[in-house]
Amino acid sequence: MTPTVGVLALQGAFAAHVRILDWLGVATVEVRTAAQLERVDALILPGGESTTMSMLLERGELIEPLRSKLSGGLPVLGTCAGLILLSSKILDGRSDQHALGVIDLEVRRNGYGTQLDSFETDIDVAGFDDPFHAVFIRAPVVERAGEQVEILAKVDDNPVLCRQGQVMVAAFHPELSGDDRIHRRFVDSAGY
Ligand code: GLN
Repeated sequence: MTPTVGVLALQGAFAAHVRILDWLGVATVEVRTAAQLERVDALILPGGESTTMSMLLERGELIEPLRSKLSGGLPVLGTCAGLILLSSKILDGRSDQHALGVIDLEVRRNGYGTQLDSFETDIDVAGFDDPFHAVFIRAPVVERAGEQVEILAKVDDNPVLCRQGQVMVAAFHPELSGDDRIHRRFVDSAGY
């Protein structure tokens, strides 16, 4: 059975994720409330601005429901700001910004600095036959990955696509390259 996949739609680049999931024929729910969150079998946290998303999650009383779904093993894909939110430690974040701590990563917000703040490059992804064109927009840099974290792709020496159990994260925007392979892998791994 294919899962119903929620896309957190409080802020940021959620619409392009919904389009790819539609294209894959997957049932989707835009998640803005705890009741909508309750209905999903898997969730995508999109790119955008992690500080704002964190604040909107708090304002919408979604932090605790989200923590509880995640600790129940909800499969989740976090891209860019979504990666930041799911990580265990955020460097250069706001002091009141939530780190949900479901993947053992230490990440630096906007870690590529102003010169390189947005760039595109082809990356080799474990398990893919051909490179994936990755779009980085004010992306976080993963500065430390715990032993439990599987690194699926790197740029230079930095992990950019990682997985730990049911949690998958990308430092780039996989929804922006017209390539559905990362979404397909996520949906397949969330299927049951
Ligand atoms: N720099 C953003 C943040 O700190 C992330 C950018 C993105 O999601 N494209 O949340």
